[in-house]
Amino acid sequence: VVDPRLKGISDAIRVVPHFPKPGIMFNDITTLLLLPAVFKDAVDIFVERYRDMGIDAVAGIEARGFIFGPAIALAIGAKFIPLRKPKKLPGEVISETYVLEYGTDCLEMHVGAIEPGERVLIVDDLVATGGTLCAAIGLLDRAGADVVECACLIGLPKFKDFYKLNGMHMASFLTTA
Ligand code: AMP
Repeated sequence: VVDPRLKGISDAIRVVPHFPKPGIMFNDITTLLLLPAVFKDAVDIFVERYRDMGIDAVAGIEARGFIFGPAIALAIGAKFIPLRKPKKLPGEVISETYVLEYGTDCLEMHVGAIEPGERVLIVDDLVATGGTLCAAIGLLDRAGADVVECACLIGLPKFKDFYKLNGMHMASFLTTA
C-alpha cells in the first residue's frame, strides 16, 4: 500500500534539469516548503517511522538536512546535531573527508555533540551516491554513537545499489529521476 501523502509530496518537489551543472536533475525541495500541509506530511512520515525507536539524536547534513532534521528531532523528543561543511563550526571538531565525482568534500561535527552509545538518526533531503551519508556515518561511528539508520526524503533510483552505506540501514521515502 502506497502512502497517499507521497504523491502530494512528490508533486510539490520541483525538478530542475541541468542544475547546478549539465546532466544533473536537481530535486528542489524549496517548493515543498511553501506548502505547509505538504511540508508537515513530509516531516510526519519520518516522525511516524522513528518516534518509537529510542532515538537520542537526529544528525542533519548541511544544508537541507537542517530543514527537515530539527522538525523531526523536536517531534520525536531528540536532540539535533548539525553536520557541517568545513570551517563553519566554531568549537573543536572531528572531520571526515569523502570523495566526490570530481574532488573531495568534508563534513565536520562538534566534539561533545554526542555521547558514546547514544542512538542517532542521520537525515538529509536526498541520497544520490550515498557518499555524503557514508561520511556522516563515519563521523558518528568515530564518536562512538550507535547509528540506527539514515533517512532521506528522496532517493535516486541508482541508489538501489548503495545499500552498502557501511552496512547501515537506509530509508528513503520517494524515488525520483
Ligand atoms: P550523494 O553524496 O551523492 O548521495 O549526494 C547527496 C547530497 O547531494 C545531498 O546532500 C543532496 O542534497 C545533494 N544532491 C545530490 N544530488 C542531488 C539532486 N539531484 N538534487 C538535489 N540534491 C542533490
